[in-house]
Amino acid sequence: MLLVSLTGKTFYIKNTNQDFHSQYGYVKADELKKARPGTKVSTNTGHELIVLEPGFIDLYRRIRRAPQIIPLKDIGSIITQTGIGKDSVVVDAGTGSGGLALFLANIVKKVITYEIRDDFASVAEENVRFLNLKNVTVKRKDVYNGIDEKQTDLVTLDLAEPWKAVDAAHKSLKVGGFIVSYSPTTPQVSDFVEKVNSTEGLQHLSTAEIFEREWEVDKRKIRPRSQAIGHSGFLSFARKLAE
Ligand code: SAH
Repeated sequence: MLLVSLTGKTFYIKNTNQDFHSQYGYVKADELKKARPGTKVSTNTGHELIVLEPGFIDLYRRIRRAPQIIPLKDIGSIITQTGIGKDSVVVDAGTGSGGLALFLANIVKKVITYEIRDDFASVAEENVRFLNLKNVTVKRKDVYNGIDEKQTDLVTLDLAEPWKAVDAAHKSLKVGGFIVSYSPTTPQVSDFVEKVNSTEGLQHLSTAEIFEREWEVDKRKIRPRSQAIGHSGFLSFARKLAE
């Protein structure tokens, strides 16, 4: 269950058998159990909270984070530039907390994600269960040593040396499939694109940084929010044109 305050703050309630406590006061478990989505519950201090059924994005925003996860703005670009959808098979590396893998799993057929660290793989598996996804496989393997899956539609790379996974990605992809590399620094972009350009059958399509600037909208006080998101990473897109 999700409770939304009038100021837009959201609270996720995993267990409605327990009373809910917040800065807005508490709601008894009996009240929570009776509440239906779209209705309101009142706290003991008279604050009204709106009841919602949590959707994918509500749960996604609450996944456990071990290493930093990729921002939503960058995931958006990966989806739109490659056109992946319900029939696509995606290989992802490294898994980290599973941020990218989990989001893509919600829209594609299958995601297989590679992670060398057992502790991060376990965090990602916990997140897969939390989101109730049935189409994600976390493999405790070094992606630089190869990718088992063949005829895949997309390989996403978010790790320190993405160029080392280019040959494996090339072999894994079907003709027409895409590689997307996400890296915070320009030397990584340079080495990745150099590797793509020196690989017959692969073509570098584009490299971009996605800017998102949220605005504050309060009557006529409309201006960019002062705490803007800084740099996240560069996205480099490549396509397999031949074996
Ligand atoms: N995209 C993820 C974050 C990835 S962080 C998300 O959105 O949540 C990078 C991860 O790559 C780390 O967990 C690291 O352990 C893993 N990694 C580094 N080298 C790797 C390799 N050769 N094979 C598989 N995983 C690797």
